[in-house]
Formats: sequence, structure tokens, C-alpha cells
Amino acid sequence: NCKTSDDVIKAVQDYHISFVQFWFVDVLGTLKSFQVTPSELEAAFEEGMGFDGSSIEGFCRIHESDMIAFPDASSFQMVSWRPTERPVARMFCDIVKPDGTPYEGDSRYALKRMLARAAEKGYTMYVGPELEFFLFENDREPSYTDLGGYFDAPPLDLGNDIRRDIIFSLKRMGIKVEYSHHEVAPSQHEIDLRYDEALKMADTAITYKVIVKEVARKHGCYATFMPKPVFGENGSGMHVHQSLFKNGRNIFFDAHDKDGYSLSAEGKSYIAGILKHAKELTAICNQWVNSYKRLVPGYEAPVYIAWARRNRSSLVRVPMYKPGKEAATRIELRSPDPACNSYLAYASMLAAGLKGMEENYILEPPVEEDIFRMDNAERTAKGIDNLPGSLIEAVHCLEKSEVIREALGEHIFNKFIDNKKVEWDDYRTQITDYEIKKYFPLL
Ligand code: GLU
Ligand code: MG
Ligand code: MG
Repeated sequence: NCKTSDDVIKAVQDYHISFVQFWFVDVLGTLKSFQVTPSELEAAFEEGMGFDGSSIEGFCRIHESDMIAFPDASSFQMVSWRPTERPVARMFCDIVKPDGTPYEGDSRYALKRMLARAAEKGYTMYVGPELEFFLFENDREPSYTDLGGYFDAPPLDLGNDIRRDIIFSLKRMGIKVEYSHHEVAPSQHEIDLRYDEALKMADTAITYKVIVKEVARKHGCYATFMPKPVFGENGSGMHVHQSLFKNGRNIFFDAHDKDGYSLSAEGKSYIAGILKHAKELTAICNQWVNSYKRLVPGYEAPVYIAWARRNRSSLVRVPMYKPGKEAATRIELRSPDPACNSYLAYASMLAAGLKGMEENYILEPPVEEDIFRMDNAERTAKGIDNLPGSLIEAVHCLEKSEVIREALGEHIFNKFIDNKKVEWDDYRTQITDYEIKKYFPLL
């Protein structure tokens, strides 16, 4: 449990650590890492470690490519999937420019800045994500490792031993797990983390994904967070539970809520903010072409913009497992997938929710019926709108968003949109299996 650079330097000596990995992410949330030897650490804390930012996706242009990574001592942890002999540790880094100011392309900085804005009002954001994933035989095709379903126990659940090892590995890195289970689709699993402060949790989500992949590899299979790997089965989501605390109190909680949700006025307008800006949030929370194959009716993933207490077809849910319990009161956003950049996703959700609170958005009544069973006319009558249906639609909604532009900053906002337009162009010119099967014999 290190706090300062001195703690880190001492721990590196005490545990005979051979390397310290310096971690940060590019604009898409992909982990970037380089190894620093113990003798360099002191200088790294003082002056940072320089690297070439021009080769990092969404970073800078070639003529201003010198970037400096400053390790965050409080994120120091021994890496649990490397040998215990001559162990390896890692730290998350903040990226700064040669003039010493924070780099606008750094996702972690964007989240920090947004959290600081919330902190000015006295708010701390807590987040609990549920990252689902599949375990396949290999990384070339989605071949199942088991045919289990929701909450199935062994022998149907063949991922049991792997999940157990993942949980031990997470624990060794100080990550608290609440529970784990087989998910609905064959070979699909979920491990739920105990909620934590948002920046810590965005870091943890990165570590979680690495651990899941590394442990799966040791068991001879392949773990993927791809949002929709198999047609006709549930995809993998990352439901994000969120709450705001002020002076140690959960401000979303109100024991005397007349509507019976135990939700305060702030909690309600936060939800209204998420709903109102849901279309703008989508590209950030669902950033791949494949993400939109998941957001279709019938697979427990949201398609329509509405909220509910229980209904799993809705975009926002207010879980009622422990109604009336302050610490457990939170909202659950169900659209994000685990392949998004958590830093940008949390920053954007918070911005949308805070906007709702600042402007006192009115929360419409919940929709408790299964929206997937309603027809178009019924949905229109109830005023229920859709999430964007494709990456390009989502990018167009994002482009118009002042809330997200402000939350992420001009640099990340523009780089992200440019990157996604290139991806869309690449995708839309492909000739898919679907087209060959359907059109080739016919036309
Ligand atoms: N796998 C579903 C999704 O795509 C969620 C299932 C659940 O409710 O946990 O979001
Ligand atoms: Mg789940
Ligand atoms: Mg959930």
C-alpha cells in the first residue's frame, strides 16, 4: 500500500522487484506499457520518463511528439500474473507535455478534470462496473469452452476454475470482488467488482481486463471483451452502477421519496441527465462497429431510452435489491460495453448526470413493461426514443454534443471522432459473409 515515491522505492528494494511497468491508455482505452528498471525510478518520479507520443493513437502530431509519463505512486502494485521470483510491479501514469502542463490527449487526465469539477460542488463519484466476457478455445474463432447458461454450476460451467484463478489474481492486486457467475450465453462469464472511487475504478477496469486475459491464456483458452462475438446470443455488457457522495452521504438517497424509489431529487435529475444525453454518450460507451450488434432487441442489452426499477430492457435501472438502504442506492447504466475506454465513459456519464442536476431536468415516469414487446406505435405514444443504431449514427450524435465536448476537452473529442470516422469508412466498404450468402446466388 504505497502512497509516496519513497514508499515505492522502498517496496521495490524490499521485494527485489526487477521491473516496474508504466501504464497509460491511448484515446481508445488500449493499454500502453513500458518497463522501467529500479535504478531509474527516482529520476522517473522527479522528471518523468520521456516517450514518443506520435506513435500513440489519438495523441499528438509528429512535430510535437515529446511526451512525459509521470508515475502515480498511489497506484503502485505488484503484478499478479508474472513470476513471483524477481517480481514485476506496475504504476499508472499521468501524461504531461515538455512544459510540465497536463497533456490534453490523456484520458486519465480528462477523467481527473471532470472529477475535479464534481469535487468543486463537494461530490465524489463512486462506480461499480459489471464487466462480462467470453472464454473461447482460441483467438481465431468463437469456439465455445462450455455450453452453460445463467448461474449454471459445474459441470456445465467449465469456466469455474478459471474464474476462481482470476479472482485470486485480482485479490492479490488489492481488487475487491463481490461475486462471479456464469452468464446467459454459452462460455460467457461475469465477475463483479466492489464499487470504488471513479478514477481508481477506471484504473482497476484496465487491470481487470489484463488479468482476465492472462489467466485465461494460462488455462489454454482465450478471453474476449468483444461486445457481440456470437450472432443469436447475448453480447457482453459493462453495466455501470454509479452514485455521488457528499460529506460522506449518498446524495442519490432519500428515505422519504414520495415515489417510492428511495431516490432524491438529485438522483432523479441525474438519471434525467443520462437519459437526455444518452444518444451523445453512446459513441463513447460503445465505440466499435461491433458494439452496435449488441444493442439490438431481445438480448438484455438496451435499445430504447427509458428507465425502470426492474425491467432489463431499459437503459437505466435503479436496482431495488436493498430498497431504503443508503449505501446501496445507485443508478445502473446498462448500455456501455467492456471494450470502451472507461476513463472517457465515466467522465461522460458524470457530465451528463451533473448537467441534469444543474439544470433540474425532469425525470419522466419509469417504464416497467418489457419495451422489446411494444410495437413502434406504442413506443412513440409513450415518447420512447432509440439509441443510435450504428457507430456512424452515434458519432453524428456525439459531434453535436456540447456536454461531452466540454467533459472530454477539444483534443480528445476531435481525435476520437476522427478515429471513429476512419473505422466506419473501413467497415462500410467491406463485403461481408452476409452479403455473399444472400446476394451472390441471387443477383
Ligand atoms: N449480457 C447482457 C448485456 O449485453 C446483460 C445481461 C445482464 O443483465 O447481466 O448487456
Ligand atoms: Mg450480467
Ligand atoms: Mg447489471
